[in-house]
Amino acid sequence: MNFYDALSNPESRCHYLKNLNLGMKKEYVSNLIYINTVTDYCMDVDAHPSCKHFLVSGLKSTINVYPFVFENDFVQTETDFLSILFDHECFHAMEYYQNPKLIVPAKNIIPIERVNFFINLELRAYNNQMQAIKNGRNVSARFLSNLEARIKNKNELKSSLEREDIIFSIA
Ligand SMILES: [Zn+2]
Repeated sequence: MNFYDALSNPESRCHYLKNLNLGMKKEYVSNLIYINTVTDYCMDVDAHPSCKHFLVSGLKSTINVYPFVFENDFVQTETDFLSILFDHECFHAMEYYQNPKLIVPAKNIIPIERVNFFINLELRAYNNQMQAIKNGRNVSARFLSNLEARIKNKNELKSSLEREDIIFSIA
């Protein structure tokens, strides 16, 4: 059972994920589950439920994997898949484990800062993916250009928010 079976055969995806070796990432990740519902997301991280009440470090996350990660036109190789899983989602899980304040915004944060908080959170994970690629994670060309487009998009969003911030402060 390999990645290409998981790509082509939805029935084999649970098995593929079950046999994936998370290695050192197990320190931050308690569970990897396949959720067979239609969604536009590849994967996401479910922080430990108690995070809403207690911002304590040392809590592991669950990573949810959705069909879209196997059914899009940019994840072409297992290395692409692992770039998302290990370098992006496990990075979120690591930040949450080490410092949950990086992942859970303060309750009294104003809306524009809240949006900025989540943009920055994503940019850190994207930058971690880029760093791993520079260090030798050999992703496909299509995957890399998709990742670069996501980073560009987030940066544009960030600068449009900054402009809005200026308008707010003038008004
Ligand atoms: Zn993310």
